[in-house]
Amino acid sequence: MQVDLHMHTGYSADAAHPQRVEDKVRAGIAAGLDIMAITDHLDFYRTRPPAENRDPEGGLREVWAAKRTFADQIEVLAGIEIGQIHADPAADAFVRAHELDMVIGSLHAMPNDLDIYFHDYTRLNCDAFLRAYFEELLRMERHGGFDVLAHIDYPLRVMRHGDYVPSFDQYMDRVEQVLRVCIDRGYALELNAAGLKGWQKKVGPPQNILYEYRRMGGERISIGSDSHALDNVALGVPDCVQNARDAGFDTVTVFRARRPVMVPIGS
Ligand SMILES: [Zn+2]
Ligand SMILES: [Zn+2]
Repeated sequence: MQVDLHMHTGYSADAAHPQRVEDKVRAGIAAGLDIMAITDHLDFYRTRPPAENRDPEGGLREVWAAKRTFADQIEVLAGIEIGQIHADPAADAFVRAHELDMVIGSLHAMPNDLDIYFHDYTRLNCDAFLRAYFEELLRMERHGGFDVLAHIDYPLRVMRHGDYVPSFDQYMDRVEQVLRVCIDRGYALELNAAGLKGWQKKVGPPQNILYEYRRMGGERISIGSDSHALDNVALGVPDCVQNARDAGFDTVTVFRARRPVMVPIGS
């Protein structure tokens, strides 16, 4: 099965606009996908109202409509990418109130409500920052309420500056804690292709983390392009599939009505 389980439409504030759900589904069909999940952003914060989505209700209505319209050509999953599900009780309330196939759990913002992307790493103690990041990620995992643990390597994508090349290699004890909770809670660990566009030029997480997850007994993985425009649906998915296979995975876990189903990976 060809799958892309993480992508955005014009409903996400940081995605190309206009970018209609229907057009995204057509792009998914053109890319040869069998299953695609539309997962627009909805980020929650400790001290300010939810953001990053132009109209979550409207977006989900369009996704459910597209699911029916294109049912004979592609399976469309109604998803959402929730940032900081643990930061505001309104996040769980949103999930409870809406019919969803899958919920992606993402950590975009630190406890100060500032996106990891926007921190000034030239002025920060990067070691302390990463330690705080893992603490916060564990907090989110223990809170739960989601199905897919997204892009755990997000800080690596954005922290590089000057001579500093971020790596998780010195933090493998923390990474193992994160993977342990992921396995125990049944989250699917996401392979995310966004890193291909950055300095790493590689999909994440780093392959040694994927090996470690497998060694620890991890079975559920998810794969997503994290596409934010119509022309890059499924971009990088073949790299994710290759990494998954190399690490010993032959299935990807999709969620239908929040229930996990393993499907064969690739072809
Ligand atoms: Zn994200
Ligand atoms: Zn995303």
